[in-house]
Amino acid sequence: MGNTSPNRLVLLGSTGSIGQNTLEIVQTYPEEFRIVVLGCRSNLDRLMEQAERFRPEWVTIDGNTLSEDQRNTLKSWGIRIAIGTEELRSVLKEADFDLAVNAIMGAAGLIPTIDVLERGIDVALANKESLVMAGRLVMDLAKAHEASVFPIDSEHSAIQQCLRGEDPGTIARIILTASGGPFYDTSDIDLSKVTIKEVLNHPTWDMGPKITVDSATLMNKGLEVIEAHFLFNVPSDSIEVWIHPQSVVHSMVEFVDGSIKAQLGIPDMRLPILYALTGGNRHPADFIHTDLCRIGKLEFAEPDRNRFPCLDLAYHALELGGTTPAVLSSADEEAVALFLDEKITFDKIPELISAVLNEYATENPPCYLQGGIKGGLAKTSPPVPGGELKGGLADILQADQWARTHIRNF
Ligand code: MG
Repeated sequence: MGNTSPNRLVLLGSTGSIGQNTLEIVQTYPEEFRIVVLGCRSNLDRLMEQAERFRPEWVTIDGNTLSEDQRNTLKSWGIRIAIGTEELRSVLKEADFDLAVNAIMGAAGLIPTIDVLERGIDVALANKESLVMAGRLVMDLAKAHEASVFPIDSEHSAIQQCLRGEDPGTIARIILTASGGPFYDTSDIDLSKVTIKEVLNHPTWDMGPKITVDSATLMNKGLEVIEAHFLFNVPSDSIEVWIHPQSVVHSMVEFVDGSIKAQLGIPDMRLPILYALTGGNRHPADFIHTDLCRIGKLEFAEPDRNRFPCLDLAYHALELGGTTPAVLSSADEEAVALFLDEKITFDKIPELISAVLNEYATENPPCYLQGGIKGGLAKTSPPVPGGELKGGLADILQADQWARTHIRNF
């Protein structure tokens, strides 16, 4: 990068998998990046280690209590402390930074995305819920405030890279690749009997537990279809999913002339993180080596939509539009938590989500139909002035709460 001063970063979700990978990049290029805010939910031991190493101006914590000792240590390092959502929001409104990396897990990541974009500051987005629950709102905000959203997700980073220099009007379809998860090739395995350990044993990516379960159900790919729709303004019937067990082709774009562009690389999240941190620039990196001769073969297959119904549930929610994707996302978050708590079996995850979506459709027919995107593009939606925008957010948060309450009834 041509800058002489380092890029000042907010990193929310610093103790998770994406957060730790981001800090590796920052440590590799200390002249180029400086951490201003480190935020986490509850892993305070790791946060203390990170704070000692990176010496941010702030730490923000949303879900755990610092000991007196930890508090004093942070103060002795000159680090200010923010506790809870409201104080985090104040920090995001006040701190001086160039880019926020949002790697918060779950619906809690939505408000920080909105707060940063409202300041006209770019977001490197690993939090899927920001786009799944409120994709139109988030992209409209980015546009209105001339801020950019850089996806930290291997698939969407790949698509963004494939679209460099291309006219968006020439996209014929987007092809999202999916590893298929641990059960892609195991049609003899009874999905009602698989253990948490088997589900968490992802073949190619090392990620947090929620997203690993989502990869096994294919809900992760369903959520990514919704994200791709909003990020790239492509209708759902032009977004396809192919199983690609090697996870080397990170996604593809087919253009109207039949040509397909793909982005390839070994599965290593540091690549899409570096691309996002540099605002979509080609930064030299010596830690990525993709040896295709050694990998030998790249395979592709259609997903088994009957065995993994979460994929179609996501398409369904996207086609119905409005607040339905928010219900899908929050219902999934709750269902996965129930599975990880050993309250339900793996095969019940899609059943529960489907039941919640159906009840939502019955209870909320007007809301359900409003804003549907079938056959239409997001860009046809009217621009939303400030007042109505808040109403949109309130509706989304209400749908989120509705889904969480109702899933417990099934
Ligand atoms: Mg992904």
